[in-house]
Amino acid sequence: MTTRLYTHPIYLEHLMPAGHPERPDRLRAIERALDDEPFEALDRVEAPEGDEQTILLVHPEPFVEDIRLRVPEEGLVRIDGDTVVSPNSWRAAITAIGAANAAVDDVFTGKADNVFVASRPPGHHAEKTTAMGFCLFNNAAIAARYAQRRHGAERVAIVDWDVHHGNGTQDIFWNDPSVLYCSTHQMPLFPGTGAKSETGAGNIVNAPLAPDTGSDLFREAFRSRVLPALDNFAPDLIIISAGFDAHHRDPLAEINLTEADFDWATGQLMDRAARHSSNRLVSLLEGGYDLHGLAFSVAAHVTRLMKG
Ligand SMILES: [Zn+2]
Repeated sequence: MTTRLYTHPIYLEHLMPAGHPERPDRLRAIERALDDEPFEALDRVEAPEGDEQTILLVHPEPFVEDIRLRVPEEGLVRIDGDTVVSPNSWRAAITAIGAANAAVDDVFTGKADNVFVASRPPGHHAEKTTAMGFCLFNNAAIAARYAQRRHGAERVAIVDWDVHHGNGTQDIFWNDPSVLYCSTHQMPLFPGTGAKSETGAGNIVNAPLAPDTGSDLFREAFRSRVLPALDNFAPDLIIISAGFDAHHRDPLAEINLTEADFDWATGQLMDRAARHSSNRLVSLLEGGYDLHGLAFSVAAHVTRLMKG
């Protein structure tokens, strides 16, 4: 397997107030974890700046302009209670989108079998016209639309194992049977959406997990809900909304996964990508707020991506 890694120093310049969990140190922890010998074979590429027009594949222009105008020349500005922008946030957000779209290009042109994007800000809470939950624009949704527009993908699956429900991705694709959205997440928990009964046009598959869920029930949800949906849908591309906040060390939730579960889930999705998508798999960082849990989990995830 050729596994590519995109990241960029600008992601460290998207600043947060003291004590905010979605902080630049998250990416420093990932960089340290992937700086080890087993990762020498990673194809490391600096993330390209994104084409702003691709944001419009998902978000309307007035919303995009509103976010751009709120980015300050100095200091911090709150978009909502927990979503914050600093002077370099626009460039960070554009470069997160650039990396996600470049990853799509790579798997469709054969430059890589799979790609992990270590970027900030995350994206899965961003709805069509609402930035929230630390997210400005929905990176995974833009990448899915980009794959359809640029590479003629007919069916794109987004699998979201972040511990929070990806309300934004669900909102964007609610009536769109060309995109399958599958999510495992803790419920009840922010943002409050993600009940099993929320099925969109039959293309939304939610697998809510009760607090204190561990490996067994997580894997059971994956086996009984996510994997059959993928087999039925037979996607041309699988995008992972890869949050690692379901790790047992994470301070924002009460799901008790270990890095072995992320290794396992990665393997399952690679198996489906081999079966349906010519291995095409793009993984985009979402949450994960315990620096050790995040580093261990990303190492396990990327190790599996490289091994096949
Ligand atoms: Zn999360």
